[in-house]
Amino acid sequence: MTVGFGFFMERSAEQAIGSLVNLRSPKAKVLRDNRETEIKAHDIVPGDIVEFESGDKVPADCRLLETFDLVIDESPLTGEPHGVRKDDDIVLEQSLGLADRTNMSYMGTLLLEGRAKGLVTAIGKQTEIGKVGELLQGVSSGKTPLEYKIENLGKLLVVVVFAITVLYIALGYLQGFNIGNIILSGIVLAIAAVPEGLPAAATITLAIGVKRMAKKHALIRRLASAETLGSVTVICTDKTGTLTKNEPTVREIVVGTSKSIISVTGAGFNPTGGKLLRDGKEVNLKTEQDSDLVMLLKAVILCNNSELSFDGKEWNTQGDTTEVALVVVAAKGRIEKRLVEKDFERIWEDPFDSKTRKMTTIHRDKDGKIFAFIKGAPESIPSICSKVRENRDLVDLDVNRLRNIHKRVNEMTAKSYRLLVVAYRELNGVKYNQDNYHDSIARDWILLGIVGIYDPPEVKNAIEFIREAKIRVILITGDHPVTARAVASELEISGGKCSSSTDKDNLVITGAELEKMSVGMLAESIGTISVFARATPEHKLKIVEALQRRGEIVAMTGDGVNDEPALKQADIGIAMGKKGTDVAKESSELILLDDNFATITHAIELGRLIFTNIKKFVQYLFSCNISEVMTMLVAIVMALPFPLLPLQLLWMNLTINTFPALAIAAEKGNGQNKLVRPPAKDKPMISRKEWFDICVQSLFMTSAAIAVFGENIIVYGRYLLKSYIQQLRLWPFPL
Ligand code: ADP
Ligand code: MG
Repeated sequence: MTVGFGFFMERSAEQAIGSLVNLRSPKAKVLRDNRETEIKAHDIVPGDIVEFESGDKVPADCRLLETFDLVIDESPLTGEPHGVRKDDDIVLEQSLGLADRTNMSYMGTLLLEGRAKGLVTAIGKQTEIGKVGELLQGVSSGKTPLEYKIENLGKLLVVVVFAITVLYIALGYLQGFNIGNIILSGIVLAIAAVPEGLPAAATITLAIGVKRMAKKHALIRRLASAETLGSVTVICTDKTGTLTKNEPTVREIVVGTSKSIISVTGAGFNPTGGKLLRDGKEVNLKTEQDSDLVMLLKAVILCNNSELSFDGKEWNTQGDTTEVALVVVAAKGRIEKRLVEKDFERIWEDPFDSKTRKMTTIHRDKDGKIFAFIKGAPESIPSICSKVRENRDLVDLDVNRLRNIHKRVNEMTAKSYRLLVVAYRELNGVKYNQDNYHDSIARDWILLGIVGIYDPPEVKNAIEFIREAKIRVILITGDHPVTARAVASELEISGGKCSSSTDKDNLVITGAELEKMSVGMLAESIGTISVFARATPEHKLKIVEALQRRGEIVAMTGDGVNDEPALKQADIGIAMGKKGTDVAKESSELILLDDNFATITHAIELGRLIFTNIKKFVQYLFSCNISEVMTMLVAIVMALPFPLLPLQLLWMNLTINTFPALAIAAEKGNGQNKLVRPPAKDKPMISRKEWFDICVQSLFMTSAAIAVFGENIIVYGRYLLKSYIQQLRLWPFPL
């Protein structure tokens, strides 16, 4: 029966892990019925047109149809460690080696840069990677440190039990018990005392915990990480979409450098009902007066890779939400992306890069004129502009106007807006050549204005938990320091409130300052830094290293290709399930299906619960088993008969080892568990004080058992005496 239960528990643990693998199955974007839809990668068929962009894994073997700056890491296939540049325009001769087919992309390889469209030529086992037979690895289910700790504990117990058994048999023999009986009960005692349910109970507790996490939208990729999660001391998190609702809305627009600000009403991605207002009055974009604003709105939807559509019931979005917000604001002004795109055919793109913080596209209009549009952070754009469009005129961007821009930028960032500065220029006479464009778009842009986007912060409750659980939060964002500080104080991250450090003034450090510091320097000062602004994913690695040097256990969020090193370095890498790239997911331990920070806190809470439950079980089991052994020993020493018969011992073994294991593993906790942090990796699982508790408990149980047994012996003795006396009829009165 015990074996049966062990099997049952292991199996349900395996099933739990198996269901995780299913949940992780990757998605792919395909063009069907002229619409971009997202389907499961294994539903792709040859002939599909698929789209992928930097960070994605190529979902099937494809002939490339369209490429923008495409660089692919084909090392899973060719072993070649460098990225390979791909181009759809190239026509190659037949029978070239895999590595030379630069107009093809292969399943399982990773997009390092750029975007592409491809026609699926092979899927599944027909793909190159399928032929090689290198299948993707699933969730590894090796033993976790906790399981090792438990196993070690079990081994220790085996030795102790063996010693006690020998002692027991020896004492029994000396007390004159039948040698056959004493050996039999000694062996049964040993069997009963060994906690064979322990490893299975640990596994199932982990598995139940992992399943519960999945219900809360947190996917654990390795069982071991479920316990590490409970020990996390610092969470480094992105801002956009993680701490915020990820429903950014354009709130304000500054046209040119003008003082009057266009405010925008409405929230979320639904454009209906939203209005563009100037001084409280709705702006009429049809009039000539607002042609500058129209130009700005056209620029932001052309320099844009997102998609907004209405399916009769709700508004669906695709792509970067910051860019969706721009499509929405244009729609509020009745400018439709699809129509504008028809008039301006896109011929080139330099995608958004979190290092340069800008994105450029080049378009040809109906008359054959070439236009370039750019949008990006306030540090990136005004400096490359020479003119500004104001009142339908082009004027020089002089010192005064630049100063105005900075003023506007400061005002808007203080309201925790994320800003995009927009500019355009004509590019006639420049030949259509990728490298040429990079040179010709370096300067002489015409500034169109600033867009202020607000994404409401959403996770106050989670932050509350974090504070109670004594976990530090560090915010890492590409946004402006002032925006970052505003969001941090809105969430009460900064100001020392949430941090374990005592310093009241938590600093905001920018990426540029960070670059000047060594890891050691950063480790010294990071106790007081809660916000990193204008940081790039590359900076994250340094931050993780500095924290780890201080002995912290670090969780780090990320979504892009560049986040990979930091995610790998962190004790718990956390990838975003929705907007995260395959690379990020692959190198992380935890995946947030809803991209929400609160989910991290749920996972940590459950991680701590797992630990608490396992420990409870171990404590329970040990105190029971020790008292079993002690009862037998004490009885022998006192020359009493066997308090427990072999069969009774075996029955207790079954009931103590298995049923409570299931019950305790499934325990939901009492809300206090989140405050209990598991001990450090190198510390034993049960502390001295807890051993003491276990001993006291077993002492009580042993004394109770012996007392009850002793009393029974006395009662039985009296009964024997009574019947003996009655038999002799020496006593005439009832006893
Ligand atoms: P994070 O994701 O940490 O909030 P990002 O690196 O995405 O930061 O953005 C940094 C800055 O780059 C933003 O403040 C904004 O000014 C600019 N930016 C963000 N997204 C885009 C985009 N799609 N196109 C152009 N500029 C952008
Ligand atoms: Mg971003």
